[in-house]
Amino acid sequence: MSAPRRATLAVSAGRPAHEPGNPVNAPIGASVTFHAGKDPVYLRQTGSDVLQGLEEAIGALEGGRALAFSSGMGATAAALDAVPVGAVVVAPRMCYSGTSSLLERHVADGRLVVRFVEISDTAAVVAALEAEPAPALLWVETPTNPLVGIADLPALVAAAHRVGAAVAVDSTWNSPVLLRPLEHGADLVMHSATKYLGGHSDLLMGVLVTADDARFDDLLRRRTLGGAFPGTLECFLALRGLRTLDVRMERAQANAGELARRLDADPRVEKVLYPGLPDFPGHDIVARDHDGFGAMMSFLVAGGADAAEAVCGRVRLVSHGTSLGGVESLLERRARYAVDAANGTPENLLRFSVGIEHVEDLWSDLDQALG
Ligand SMILES: *Cc1c(COP(=O)(O)O)cnc(C)c1O
Repeated sequence: MSAPRRATLAVSAGRPAHEPGNPVNAPIGASVTFHAGKDPVYLRQTGSDVLQGLEEAIGALEGGRALAFSSGMGATAAALDAVPVGAVVVAPRMCYSGTSSLLERHVADGRLVVRFVEISDTAAVVAALEAEPAPALLWVETPTNPLVGIADLPALVAAAHRVGAAVAVDSTWNSPVLLRPLEHGADLVMHSATKYLGGHSDLLMGVLVTADDARFDDLLRRRTLGGAFPGTLECFLALRGLRTLDVRMERAQANAGELARRLDADPRVEKVLYPGLPDFPGHDIVARDHDGFGAMMSFLVAGGADAAEAVCGRVRLVSHGTSLGGVESLLERRARYAVDAANGTPENLLRFSVGIEHVEDLWSDLDQALG
């Protein structure tokens, strides 16, 4: 049999062995402690069957070894914790607000030096990587939150490795269906599994994936001692959600492509930021490196902040709320948050996480909401 494709792995990886009497699904195994005398001993140290199944499945999809954390920020915190005190990190100025806030805390605490860059400006990132002293880590987010900036990952990985910096990629918007950063030479992949991997907006979880055993062991130790260990029921829900990742992504992405085209042609919309539009900056990079243009976009509503806020107030099927990557469509005016406003997010920008509803129902809701 040939190696299974990712759509198959999402369904088949991380299950108990095909043996008579074995369960088809990994048992939840909800116990924190175990009768003494042999392993396992305690949940935070040894994990559970369902956690192992989840990590096996995500590892198979990304092409590395996965570690699940209690949230995306728990995973990011562990990854940044592994950077030596005083080291230089190159990171996107525009990225997930929790990541930029955490980086700024590390700077304020004197733990890290951060060179903030525009991640889609390859020459600027390379210059920041080549400046003295040499950085220890390049943190990439692609596409970026919420301006949909696209990183040229192979070029950035090559430049980072030339100066001895490791590369970590927050690939939350892509999921392994659309991009596998390890295949492009990245050293670490981070996901907020709260989003596409879980896919139902009903759990918090984070993931780190690496193909380097020493890095894996170090991060495992940080999870055990740092304590950002995922809950057992969340692992069960995340693994159940992961089984449909490929079909969810297929539908959501098809919806997003169609809605992006309609919004782009609509005079009530100033601009659509979606990599699938042929004239979008970064379109060619996404076409080259990703297996699809994804289900996330941002669009600028004509008429400014008030007009954009009014759309949020009028949507009926689409929910007005934060987060992304669930089966349900979500829309949000990001500049209402101080961090995003300070980062220069346009006041009339709506971030739109397209779900798996019928595209015509989504369009009729947007059409009435645009007024
Ligand atoms: C949500 C999100 C995070 C943080 O994940 P949590 O699970 O909320 O802690 C990090 N990066 C991106 C791109 C996100 O969307």
